[in-house]
Amino acid sequence: MFEHELTPQVKIISKPDNILRTVYTACRTCYSADSPININNCQNAQDENKALSLINKVISSGHYSTIEHIQISFAISGISRACSHQLVRHRLMSFSQKSQRYVREKEQFDYVVPNTIKKNSELYLKYQNFMKQTTELYLEMTEKGIPAEDARFILPNATSTSMVASLNLREMIHLANLRLCSRAQAEIRTLVKLMCDELILQEPWLKNYLVPKCEKLGFCDEDKSCGRMAKRGLD
Ligand SMILES: Cc1cc2nc3c(=O)[nH]c(=O)nc-3n(C[C@H](O)[C@H](O)[C@H](O)COP(=O)(O)OP(=O)(O)OC[C@H]3O[C@@H](n4cnc5c(N)ncnc54)[C@H](O)[C@@H]3O)c2cc1C
Repeated sequence: MFEHELTPQVKIISKPDNILRTVYTACRTCYSADSPININNCQNAQDENKALSLINKVISSGHYSTIEHIQISFAISGISRACSHQLVRHRLMSFSQKSQRYVREKEQFDYVVPNTIKKNSELYLKYQNFMKQTTELYLEMTEKGIPAEDARFILPNATSTSMVASLNLREMIHLANLRLCSRAQAEIRTLVKLMCDELILQEPWLKNYLVPKCEKLGFCDEDKSCGRMAKRGLD
C-alpha cells in the first residue's frame, strides 16, 4: 500500500450506555399503566433476558419509535468521496464532513483504491500516476492564487474524506439492512460493516438486527439476487 492510500477507520465516539434499558422502558410504557419512571427502575428493565424478550416482540411487530430514542455518533475517516456521497443519501443521519473549501491540500492528497483496481498491477500504477498528476495541477492552481474551493473541482471521487456521522438506532438498522446487502457497493459495505461491528462489540444483542435486508425479510427483494436467499415468491 502506498503512503497516501487510506482504508476506512471507524470509532464510536458517543452512545448511551443504557440502550437496552431505555428501549425496554419505551416499549413497556406503551402497554403499562405504570409510569415510565417506575418502569425504568423496575427489575425487568435491568434483566437483559426479560428486557430483550419484550424488545424483540415489539420491534418485530414494526413498533419502531421505541428504537428512535438511541443516538449513536461515529468518527469516520479513510473513506472516499464516492463512499461519503452514498452515505449522505441517508436523510435521517447527521453529518459534519471535512471541507474541501476550508482544508487546502498541501501535498499529495490522500485517496482510496478499490480492490478491483489494486489487483491489476498495470492499472494500479496508472491510477497512482493519475493521482500524482492531479495533485501537481491542484498545487499549481492553489500556488497561483486559485482558491481551494475552485481547485478542488479536479479532485476525483477517490479523494479521501473524514466525518462525524450520527444516527438513531432505527436508522442504524435501516442502514445495515440496505448497505450490508451484497448489491451495495463494496466500499460502503465495508464501512457499514465496520460501524455495525463496533456497535455489536458494545451491544451484542444488536447482532440479530444489524443484518442485510434479506435476513430481516426472509427473502431477497433485489432484481439481481446474489443467491444467498431465495427471491420473493419463489421456492
Ligand atoms: C444498492 C443500492 C443502489 C442504489 N443506487 C442508487 C442509484 O443508482 N441512484 C440513486 O440516486 N440512489 C441510489 N441509491 C440510494 C437510494 O435510492 C436511497 O437514496 C438511499 O439508499 C437512502 O435510503 P432510504 O431513502 O431508504 O433511507 P433514508 O434516507 O436513510 O431514510 C430512511 C427512511 O425514512 C423514510 N423517508 C426518508 N425520507 C423520506 C421522504 N422524503 N419521504 C418518505 N419517506 C422518507 C423512508 O422510509 C426511508 O426508507 C442506492 C442505494 C442502494 C442501497
